Amino acid sequence: MTQPVPRGSTLGVLGGGQLGRMFALAAHRLGFRVAVFTDAEDAPASLAVDRHVIAPLDDLDRVAEFARSVSVVTFEFENVPSATTEAAAKFAPVRPSGSLLHTSQNRSREKGAMRALGLPVATYVDILSEDDVARAPEIVPGAGILKTAAWGYDGHGQRRVASAAEVADAWRELDCQPAVLEGLVPFECEVSVVGARGHDGEAVFYDPFENRHANQILDLTLWPARVPEDARARALEVARAVFEGLDIVGVACIEMFVLPDGEIVINEIAPRPHNSGHLTIDAHVISQFELQVRAIAGLPLGSVEPVAPAACMANLLGDLWSGGEPPWDRVLAEPRVRLHLYGKTDARPGRKMGHLTVVGEDRDALEQRIVRARAMLQT
Ligand code: AMP
Repeated sequence: MTQPVPRGSTLGVLGGGQLGRMFALAAHRLGFRVAVFTDAEDAPASLAVDRHVIAPLDDLDRVAEFARSVSVVTFEFENVPSATTEAAAKFAPVRPSGSLLHTSQNRSREKGAMRALGLPVATYVDILSEDDVARAPEIVPGAGILKTAAWGYDGHGQRRVASAAEVADAWRELDCQPAVLEGLVPFECEVSVVGARGHDGEAVFYDPFENRHANQILDLTLWPARVPEDARARALEVARAVFEGLDIVGVACIEMFVLPDGEIVINEIAPRPHNSGHLTIDAHVISQFELQVRAIAGLPLGSVEPVAPAACMANLLGDLWSGGEPPWDRVLAEPRVRLHLYGKTDARPGRKMGHLTVVGEDRDALEQRIVRARAMLQT
């Protein structure tokens, strides 16, 4: 399909989390309807969409029925089975493609694909057997991170090792699941490039975002990234090469490490809008969610320009709820601070419940302001 999806059509989303919710808000603004397919009754997206199908993602008959009822299908999280995207693709275009999703679902496949494109990834070795564990020091002799190949997110399924001698124990702790051992990258900072590409090959990229993690979960995103100009240009070049090399149609985020010499190493690819791109809702002419709508619906991608010289985003995790519902009025009274809540009722520690954004002139001042605003929510 190369014709744009007509306004008023229904866009289908597999998954019903906050990314689906923010996608739906953007889609409505452009005159589309949205249907989500999720296995959760109280999915964050459900209140923001026109139709909510509740069924297991591997119920292929329901998936087929869903795909028949929409004009295009996308997904908002990565754990969608390949059989599901294949079942959907028989009845509606799936964007990005199920094959891209399949690649990104597995760290080994993803790194292999990057290597095949000649793109930089950390030194790594697949760990599938005790023999691989024994051979690991030849490839990753020093400190590293053992990561399960599949189903990992926000540091889940990861063990740091001080040397390859610790890999055997770490692998057992991960139940000997297929894994990759990555050499520890001595990065100066972490950045992400969020972009979109249409089916005609036109692509746009936001300027890199700088990301700070706490306990391996994204904590703050700061823009502009404080990296040398050549690293910034290289990050954009690498992102474009990933989009073109993998023929991505839709939105994706490329997470990268910036080394002290300005070189870039790709960490991972998210074939969907990304937490680090949430600030685009307030800080850019077109948000990453509107970009996703435009890219999958075959519309012009438009402008990814910022509306101000600097912006910061701070995640709000479930830990903030330890003393009950946080006192929202405090941040609502703060000038320039914008509150985004995902409508989740169950506030578990580490769970992403919402975020704050602040947009303005000076990045350092904004960072202080957002950190202070978030601290006001602690009781
Ligand atoms: P991931 O789940 O792969 O995105 O990893 C979560 C976070 O762990 C990253 O954002 C980094 O802060 C850190 N990390 C992951 N892999 C490496 C690595 N090979 N070297 C250094 N830090 C890493």
